[in-house]
Amino acid sequence: MAPLTPRPGIMDIAPYVGGQSKDTSYKGKLSSNESAIGPCPAAVEAFKQAADTLHRYPDGGSIELREALGQHYGLEADRLVCVSGSDDLLSMICRAYAGPGDEVIFGENAFLMYPISTMSVGATCVTVEETEYRVNVDNILAAVTERTKIVFITSPSNPTGTYTTKDELARLYAGLPDHVVLVIDGAYADFVTASDFDDGLELARTAENVLVTRTFSKIYGLAGLRLGWGYASAQIIDVINRIRGPFNVGAPSQAAGVAALGDDTFFEAARTHNDTWLAWLSEQISALGLFVVPSVANFVLIRFGSETEAQACDLFLQDRGYFLRRMDGYGFPDHLRLTVGAVDENEGVVAAMRSFIERPNREES
Ligand SMILES: *Cc1c(COP(=O)(O)O)cnc(C)c1O
Repeated sequence: MAPLTPRPGIMDIAPYVGGQSKDTSYKGKLSSNESAIGPCPAAVEAFKQAADTLHRYPDGGSIELREALGQHYGLEADRLVCVSGSDDLLSMICRAYAGPGDEVIFGENAFLMYPISTMSVGATCVTVEETEYRVNVDNILAAVTERTKIVFITSPSNPTGTYTTKDELARLYAGLPDHVVLVIDGAYADFVTASDFDDGLELARTAENVLVTRTFSKIYGLAGLRLGWGYASAQIIDVINRIRGPFNVGAPSQAAGVAALGDDTFFEAARTHNDTWLAWLSEQISALGLFVVPSVANFVLIRFGSETEAQACDLFLQDRGYFLRRMDGYGFPDHLRLTVGAVDENEGVVAAMRSFIERPNREES
């Protein structure tokens, strides 16, 4: 009998490693960019109510949710698609447009789901250099070939927290040939208030080849639900609708999503909390003598003097109950990523970092 053999490239994929939390006795799980203020309460309530009709299949077209999204963001409901977490859409776009021999471009420090999705369809990853923790439009454009099918950018970016400006996005789009799909992953877009930020939705309204992906996981605090959405041209949405599962979003998720969009109080609270504590964390950690990449998302990337120092700090914080994200897989082995947490988590982790920096045996370690 022939051995089971997955398609070429599959075994080259490094499995995704999530943010760690060894046990439940931690003081702060600040490793996965989860909501600092818990889940949106209106969504939780709607989710519970949906439990009574679990014997029914969900609406396969997520109609009510698409209409609510359309109203909320000012978009056409028939050009939206709802998905089981935006990660799901990232893989679907690869499945739809890329295959063996095709190239998919993204930054060298980009979100790990891009290489996973690219390699799982047998396409080739083309990574381009980023500059000063930012997506570099010129480097992306220089890497485009006849074989390029997809370009992924994240704005704001994970793990850096930086964003692509309106001008940069326009220049990127203008320089791309029509046969390339530009995916703008906006997982953290809801957190941003900067005036030169562009979430890409307006571009996706007129362009044939732009897909914007968004999620309920981050600002709405619904990561456990697995709910995301995309907005693109009718052409791209039609393609996604052909390959997605017919019941890809559960009924409780759809109901929770609709309720979340109606909970402005929660949204504002989440944004205000983040604005306050993102600034506080950046300032406090910089004052410890560490470089903090200026972020507009719900996390900060922190640079240490060396890889050894970053690892030592990570272990030191773990011993005190705080879990940050190691950045080896993102090409930043001398950095740690810290999610904005609740008040006591933020104060606690900064105090613990201060103890690390001021530890007496520092020179020997
Ligand atoms: C968290 C995250 C997502 C994933 O969102 P889900 O909807 O939970 O799958 C997508 N892109 C980036 C960059 C993220 O950090």
